[in-house]
Formats: sequence, C-alpha cells, structure tokens
Amino acid sequence: MKISKKKALIIGAGPAGLTAGIELLKSEKFAVTLVEKDAVVGGLAKTTEYKRCRYDIGPHHFITESDKILAWWRDVMGQDFHQLKRFTRIFYNNHFFHYPLEPWNVITGLNPFQCIRAIASYIRIRLFPIKKVTSFQDWVSNKFGRRLFSIFFKTYTEKVWGIPCDTISADWAAQRIKGFSLSHAIFYAFFGRWFTKNKPRTINDVFYYPSRGAGTMWERVAQRITTHDDGTLFVGQEVASIQHADGRIVAVSTRSKQAAEIYGAAQSLTRYEADYFFSTMSLRNVILSLDPLPSAMVINAAKSLAYRGLITVNLIVNKTNVCPDHWLYIHEKSVRMGRIGNMNNFSPFMVDNPQQHTALSLEYFTFVDEPFWFTPDDQLIELGRQELAQTGLVKARDVIDGMVMRTADAYPVYNANYKEHLDIVLTYLGQFTNLELMGRNGLHRYNNMDVAMLSAMSAVDKVLAAQEAVMYHAPEAKSESVFLT
Ligand SMILES: Cc1cc2nc3c(=O)[nH]c(=O)nc-3n(C[C@H](O)[C@H](O)[C@H](O)COP(=O)(O)OP(=O)(O)OC[C@H]3O[C@@H](n4cnc5c(N)ncnc54)[C@H](O)[C@@H]3O)c2cc1C
Repeated sequence: MKISKKKALIIGAGPAGLTAGIELLKSEKFAVTLVEKDAVVGGLAKTTEYKRCRYDIGPHHFITESDKILAWWRDVMGQDFHQLKRFTRIFYNNHFFHYPLEPWNVITGLNPFQCIRAIASYIRIRLFPIKKVTSFQDWVSNKFGRRLFSIFFKTYTEKVWGIPCDTISADWAAQRIKGFSLSHAIFYAFFGRWFTKNKPRTINDVFYYPSRGAGTMWERVAQRITTHDDGTLFVGQEVASIQHADGRIVAVSTRSKQAAEIYGAAQSLTRYEADYFFSTMSLRNVILSLDPLPSAMVINAAKSLAYRGLITVNLIVNKTNVCPDHWLYIHEKSVRMGRIGNMNNFSPFMVDNPQQHTALSLEYFTFVDEPFWFTPDDQLIELGRQELAQTGLVKARDVIDGMVMRTADAYPVYNANYKEHLDIVLTYLGQFTNLELMGRNGLHRYNNMDVAMLSAMSAVDKVLAAQEAVMYHAPEAKSESVFLT
C-alpha cells in the first residue's frame, strides 16, 4: 500500500537546514520545503564573489571528530575537498606568535621579564586556583594563569564578544577550549611530533576546504534538494509569523522583500502548512514571530538573548604572499579588527588572478545597535586599509578595492544570565510536538558546521522515530493530513 509522504517545512538554508532537508529526503517519507530569507544558500557558511575574488564570512574550515560528517562532506564534494595543514598566528604587541603556541616563539616574542611573570602567575594559579568559577575569565585563568590569560585571551575575546571577560559565562570557555591545558599545550609544543595520537582537538592541525569556498558545499547540497522530486527551496523568503494552536505549529508565513517591492507589503506574505517544522532561525525571532504570542515572561526572556554582529571588510590586495597564515588572530589593542583571513591560502581558486592579487577578509565584531554597525562602507574599507597597513603586512596603497558584508546574528552570546533566559525559551517551545529546533542560533549554541549538522541529523532521527511509532500504533492515521495550499 502506498503511504503518502508527510510534509516538512524547514526554516533556513544554512548547514543545519540543508542537512535536515537531505536527511529527510533520504528517508523517502517526507516531502521537504525550505524557506530562506537570504538570496543565496549557505547561511553563515556561504561564499560571496566580488570582482572575481571569493570570500567566506570569515574563512570556514571544515573540521570534525565525526566520521559520519566527514563521509557526508566527502560524498557531496567528491574530489574537490582538499586537506590542508593549518597555519595560524596571533598578532600581539607587533609580534606574530604561532598558534598553537610554540615555546621558543613565545619566549622570543615576549621579553624575559614577561616570560617570568607568565610562569609565576601560572604557578600561583595552580597553587591557589579560583574556587568559584563563574566567568570565562575565571575559567581560563585557572587553566593558564592570569598573565597568559590577559596576553592571549582577554583582548581577542573582548573584541569578539564586546563585553568584559568577567561577564562572559564560563560555559563558553568550557565548550570551546575543552580538554585543553597549558601543561598539555607545552607538552605538545615540544614533543607533539612524536605523540600525535592523543593530541587535543583544539590543536589539531589539518582541515578540509573546497577549492572555490566553503559555500560551494552548501550550494551543492541545495542543488541535490532542488533536483529531488520531493524537495523545494525558496530563497528571499523571511519567516515573519509562526502560527500555532493546541500545542502544534500549524503554519508559517513568509515575507518576500521582492514581492513587497512589487505588490506592497500586504500581498507579500506566503503561507506554508506542514506536519513537521524544523527551525534554524534565532530563538529570539522564533518567539517574536509566534502567533499568538506567548506570555510577557517568555517574550522578555527571548529579547534577553543577545547576538553579536559581524562586519567583514573584504579587500583585494595588489600583492601576493601577504602572509603564510590561513588566518591571523589580531590581539593588538590599537586596531579594531579581530581577525584577518587570507583566502588565497585556502585555495588558489579563491582568486582568479592569484599571481597578482590576494583576497583578505578583515573581521570586525560589533553589536547591531552600535554606531559602528552603521559606518558607511567606504569608511569601513578605509579603516581596513589603514589597520592592515599598521600590521606591516601590506602597504595602504596595495589595497586596490574592497566590499563590506554585514551579518547581524553571527554569534549567540553567552552572557552571565543567558542560561536562565534560554531555559525559559526552550521550555516554552518544548510544548510544540511538531517543532524541532536545531543549528547554531536555532539552539543558541556557539557551534561549528559539523555540530550544527549533527543537531539537524538528530532532529530528523527524532521525527522519523516518532513517525515509525505513529505508524506502528495507529496505522489508520497514516495518510490523513489535509493541506490548504
Ligand atoms: C566568522 C565565523 C567564522 C566561522 N568559522 C567556522 C569554521 O571555520 N568552521 C566551522 O565549522 N564553522 C565555522 N563557523 C560556524 C558556522 O558558520 C556555523 O556553525 C554554521 O553556519 C551553523 O549553521 P546553521 O544552519 O545552524 O546556521 P546559519 O548558518 O546561521 O543558517 C541559518 C539560516 O537561516 C536563515 N534564516 C534566519 N532567520 C530566518 C527567517 N526568519 N526566515 C528564513 N530564513 C531565516 C539565515 O539567513 C541562514 O541562512 C563560523 C561562524 C562565523 C560567524
């Protein structure tokens, strides 16, 4: 007997949404529709071309501890997935420190007095650790000592998050620097070449990358979806309302910027009904889009979830061999940028003319209500040019062109009370039996692509298991859904 397929509606065509789409289609039990507000797919992991140079939103390198994810990526990219040896450094006090840290390089970079202070502060913290660890500052100081914390963590972390390290939750450090200790770092720095087996993840030194940018992975996945009989993907459609009743999501309505421009706001809404809904949009916006809205307490909790925006100033430099790094962390206080990505070092195909040009991506972290967010593009390009010259990597006149990209919700912020607010939001949304939350902003987790994908896979597994259970216990219910659209 032919069983009619259930309908799944996925919000967002970033890594998590696209992964969920493919996994649902693989099951052959679902017809899948994705709605994406951007004009292109890939989310934070997209690649954008400007004057024949290609830029990620901050270079996206592919790393994972999951064999399943690696096999998935290889299946999508085939031969066009290249293993690279990571080379990254920290720029601090006009010196380039290798990252992961290398003892001799640290000793030559810091003067002997600073070295002694760093060692003394490390010994001090080992003897008298901070007992009640609540903040990022406490957590890292306990691992590395206060001195190394302030040299190698404080400035960069505060640039990224825009809040003092003593107000960032210790959860973030525990998640990102898990399993890392200074003694391990020093051990591996000296003896790593002979003891590669148990090397901690944070200092793994190889990654993968497609020849024409991280985004090509997601473009290929999207193509698999759109060429599948049961797959549909709409871009330029922003979810504006999520309608619910009796503990179930009933439909979402999207707003099309393009349709609004042509037909006016009222005609630009499209309604999608489905059996299951998968969301990767930010939790704050999920709550604020609900119709009817939840209680004031839930709304306030959602509004308290903070996000850090990112401006990338993408420059074309009339020079080759700018630096050997894939990216550089800029700890230097005198410049505002936080990271420089050198796209040429990911692949020569990132630039059409790599014998002459280098594509550099400068990252500026900001809140979207700060004046910096509204700085005109030409001023940002000029700032990038001047700051780049200040590092000594290129001369200002070598920067021949540039473009600016703004990403509003680039980082879910782990501020001091975020967990309280998150719990309220997740508990409320947990009542909807046909809504799955996944991905980075979809769960308010600072995740890499692989973890965002794993969250999508487990959301799909959960729904497939629920479907199996329904079919097993109530076979008469198998094909009764009715759709108005
Ligand atoms: C600067 C930077 C560098 C990074 N570097 C790496 C790296 O090197 N390696 C790595 O593995 N990871 C990296 N990441 C993390 C990686 O980008 C994320 O883990 C991944 O993109 C998360 O996928 P996602 O699908 O959950 O979210 P997203 O990529 O954010 O995708 C969500 C999608 O939903 C869409 N959307 C949002 N709201 C709506 C709405 N209302 N209606 C319709 N669509 C909507 C968005 O437009 C977006 O396309 C980096 C992130 C940043 C910011």
